[in-house]
Amino acid sequence: MASIEMRNIVKQYGDGYPAVNDVSLDIADGEFMILVGPSGCGKSTLLRMIVGLEDITSGDMLIGGKRVNDLAPRDRNLSMVFQNYALYPHMTVYENIAFPLRLAKMPDDEVRRRVTEASDVLELKDHLERKPANLSGGQRQRVAMGRAIVRQAEAFLFDEPLSNLDAKLRGQMRTEISRLQRRLGITTVYVTHDQTEAMTLGDRVCVLRKGKIQQVASPRELYEQP
Ligand code: ADP
Ligand code: ADP
Repeated sequence: MASIEMRNIVKQYGDGYPAVNDVSLDIADGEFMILVGPSGCGKSTLLRMIVGLEDITSGDMLIGGKRVNDLAPRDRNLSMVFQNYALYPHMTVYENIAFPLRLAKMPDDEVRRRVTEASDVLELKDHLERKPANLSGGQRQRVAMGRAIVRQAEAFLFDEPLSNLDAKLRGQMRTEISRLQRRLGITTVYVTHDQTEAMTLGDRVCVLRKGKIQQVASPRELYEQP
């Protein structure tokens, strides 16, 4: 687990208006931070700069107190949970969770230990031999998070993970993600343009507008303001 600190982060694509314009934000160890704002305000760009999928034009990005501006994604030890969960349909739940460890050529017994531990936490123990097609949406989400957990990532990053789901499943998933994040206590940054998600999921909400921070507040403070 780690804090994420942004100091005067700027992202300039070409010579237009900066997509992210002097953003400074501290996300505490274990905190659940929501990034919200209208389309085009810079949410995804900011998230991608945290992960390292986008270069930072100026400013400093610190993860666990360490400057990561020049670190490749694989060296940042973060985990991005994708919208479509990116599960492999031909693999079992076990193999889906184990996948990043196999890539890293981890010994079998260590893989087994970590997958067992993760599937305990995620209540997936009875489903390890199933294929993704035979799981509920909530179970699939948990498999995706399992893959992040076994890598022992410092933080979870979500980019609008629920935007393709229908309203009912979206509600279930909100509950699921919130429960898991609290159980694991892992630093989380969650991008959405959905007001309900913004107001129910996070410890704090960062409202972006045209590449700048408009406000950072708890959901309660946002709700109670005139
Ligand atoms: P959001 O996630 O809030 O919808 P984005 O971070 O995707 O916003 O985009 C912020 C701004 O940067 C937008 O004006 C968008 O058009 C621009 N932008 C995003 N990605 C690129 C890119 N690869 N090249 C040029 N401009 C981009
Ligand atoms: P390879 O270099 O083996 O083809 P990638 O470049 O896709 O693999 O990823 C290498 C490592 O970079 C991953 O194991 C992961 O740690 C990190 N990484 C890549 N993309 C992401 C992402 N979207 N979120 C988090 N980490 C990522």
